[in-house]
Amino acid sequence: MSNFAVPQFPAARPRRLRATPAMRRLVRETHLTTDGLVMPLFARPGKRERRPIASMPGNFQFSVDELVREARAIHKLGLPAVLLFGIPDKKDARASGAYAKHGIVQTAVRAIKDAVPELLVITDVCNCEYTSHGHCGIVRKRRDGALDVDNDATLELLAKSAVSHAEAGADIVAPSDMMDGRVAAIRRALDQHGFAHTPIMSYAAKFASGFYGPFRDAAESPPQFGDRRTYQMDYANAEEALREVALDIAEGADIVMVKPGLAYLDLVRRVKDRFGYPTAVYNVSGEFAMVKAAAKNGWLDERAVVLEILTAFRRAGADIILTYWAKDVARWLG
Ligand SMILES: [Zn+2]
Repeated sequence: MSNFAVPQFPAARPRRLRATPAMRRLVRETHLTTDGLVMPLFARPGKRERRPIASMPGNFQFSVDELVREARAIHKLGLPAVLLFGIPDKKDARASGAYAKHGIVQTAVRAIKDAVPELLVITDVCNCEYTSHGHCGIVRKRRDGALDVDNDATLELLAKSAVSHAEAGADIVAPSDMMDGRVAAIRRALDQHGFAHTPIMSYAAKFASGFYGPFRDAAESPPQFGDRRTYQMDYANAEEALREVALDIAEGADIVMVKPGLAYLDLVRRVKDRFGYPTAVYNVSGEFAMVKAAAKNGWLDERAVVLEILTAFRRAGADIILTYWAKDVARWLG
């Protein structure tokens, strides 16, 4: 686009290529398909349970048997992958449910891989759903007396969780905690346990965001004190986000993620341009809830807006989109 003389009006009439649907189709630059779409799912204990998540209409906490049915439906719709979160029946300070052999996620992974082996199962690796205090790691008192998450003590738990997911059959593990050094710790542990071929999708640039509200309902994981700003990123910082991504790639991340999505498209583009790595974006619960609420009031056309948003993620450089609309989009594109 740089070094040639751009023709001027009236020779140039960009509207010529917008005249009909077929013409627009011919010159369309970005194509939304189901290929990179991932549906997040929540697993809970119990039988025959589908508990609706109030702030995320159409999403449920599934008992494992129901989750398997859901996974089958997702596979049938042509989606390649799901991202799995677990809601354990018991929480404690050391997040022991996160790495238990028969923990909720481990059980769910086994059941899904058993029933639908072709469907990729990505597991969220974090502690916040499993800790009684709702933080992403081990909480200790700092020198100044404030309670904070102990980085290095947490790494060990994350590595154990990732290995337990791989042992259960997870195809990809996805650490979402934002501890320093966790990708290296997880890579090392996976390799030591015979999972050198299990990829890591790191939540590389994850921001402390107001857009996560509804998810905390869904995962029952709000922090019981303080907030997550000592480990998740300040949303004002883009250069720091690029450094975070560089660190994760250096530590062995195979796929890097930017989260949230809509307010962070600049970073999706910069990460894709700078690193050229498979890049994921998380279309988070708050982004989902906003559109749902507006559509319910008749203020927005949900389908039109969702296709526009997801195409924008692609246009910004995202290869992979984690979205609660994955099933709907598969139907709409079908
Ligand atoms: Zn967490």
